[in-house]
Amino acid sequence: MIKLYDTKAREKQDLKELHEGKIGMYVCGPTVYNYIHIGNARTFISFDIIRRYLMWRGYDVTFVQNVTDVDDKIIAKANEEGRSAADVAAEYTAAFIEDMHKVGVLDPTIRPKATEEIESMIELVRDLIETGHAYEVEGDVYFAVRSYPAYGELSGRNVDEMEAGHRELRADGKGIEDRKRDQLDFALWKAAKPGEPAWESPWGMGRPGWHIECSAMSRKYLGLPFDIHGGGADLAFPHHENERAQSEAACGCTFAEHWMHGGMLQINKEKMSKSLGNFMLLRDVLETTRPEVLRFLMLQTHYRSPLDFSEERLSEAAAALGRIENAVKNLDWQLASTAEVASSVNVQRLAEQAQHAREAFIEAMDDDFNAPRALGAVFDLVNDVNAELADKTIAEADAAVVREVRETIVALMGVFGIDIEAQATGEGTQAYPVEVVALAAELAGFDGDDAFDAVEALLDARAAARAAKEWAVADAVRDGLVGLGFVIEDTPQGARVTFEG
Ligand SMILES: [Zn+2]
Repeated sequence: MIKLYDTKAREKQDLKELHEGKIGMYVCGPTVYNYIHIGNARTFISFDIIRRYLMWRGYDVTFVQNVTDVDDKIIAKANEEGRSAADVAAEYTAAFIEDMHKVGVLDPTIRPKATEEIESMIELVRDLIETGHAYEVEGDVYFAVRSYPAYGELSGRNVDEMEAGHRELRADGKGIEDRKRDQLDFALWKAAKPGEPAWESPWGMGRPGWHIECSAMSRKYLGLPFDIHGGGADLAFPHHENERAQSEAACGCTFAEHWMHGGMLQINKEKMSKSLGNFMLLRDVLETTRPEVLRFLMLQTHYRSPLDFSEERLSEAAAALGRIENAVKNLDWQLASTAEVASSVNVQRLAEQAQHAREAFIEAMDDDFNAPRALGAVFDLVNDVNAELADKTIAEADAAVVREVRETIVALMGVFGIDIEAQATGEGTQAYPVEVVALAAELAGFDGDDAFDAVEALLDARAAARAAKEWAVADAVRDGLVGLGFVIEDTPQGARVTFEG
């Protein structure tokens, strides 16, 4: 049974799906007025891993994520740059999708855009007015917070304390505040100001408030109630509190069975903010970091805990991931040259260790998606494999079991969206320097243009030279490869290289 920490219940609860074998999940998407920063990326990667795990455990997951493509910030940016809000939104929506693909986040099942869903929002606002939960004032529509007694339950706030805070804030008596019947009330629909994007509605030209978007889209695409509503911890209040109030007031039913919130990201133990000058965009990080390494770093912290992001942690993550990749690379190397020798590997124990790793992985992830602990299970297996197989020639009779152990490592990392094989099987050799082709032409008579083949040719030439005791030739090949950043290792199965750059 999978347990998850439910924000509203403030405890771990059993995940009991509403429809057998199916999970409906809604995770608030970006407001598209800029490239997403590394903190946003953490939230989206966390929920991608949760979704992937649920899928791996056999659930049919419907994942809905909106794009907020009409908003004050988008309009402000458009005015600043002298172009339309639609233009700004289109640019950053495309950039967001590109960023998500780069970092291996699966596309949502449905990705509705606010501007294409105005009709369902108007419908929901109308329902709320009809049921006495909302009211119109001069083209604005407000939600009457006190008409929904459970307001504040999700984020653990007391309505009366909230009001006290608001009264103090109102000292300057802002005009718009005076239109509301109660200072806690929030906008469902905003009357259009000149030059802003606007749509026709029963209350005149206007545009939706932010919170109503998610309520309308989740109701339309998942139906109420649905299983899991997620987002960053900063969204719990007021955004999710408001979503919940609107949705439950309108339908008289539960909105989301479970609420999940991801922890925030800090840079060098400081809050990330533009004013501190430590604001990092995802695409800037990816310029110097493999996406797998970034995902790996995120996995090392539980999704609900604050995550500390730093250059140092990135290089630690790269080294740790490299250990898993190397283990698979070693296995491939050994499996490619099995021999008819007597078994020297305790395959029985190895198979048991793989089975144990798989069980420990599931146990950890079933416990509120504890990825750091699940990663620990993978590392235990990697250590077991390294200890059992170091410097051994694998007997042909043992190959099938060893291959299964390899598949276990690859599959478990795959649940995290990390493709270990890309590095292990040569796709990673795209990183080989092109100069190696010229080197192979000179020393090995190579006439192709592929860097991977060039390295193979050089290694063959070196082996042939050594067999013929032409040491000068063998050394020239070695020095040439080392000079380009390769490390050569001689093993019982022959020489192989890794590129360290
Ligand atoms: Zn939302």
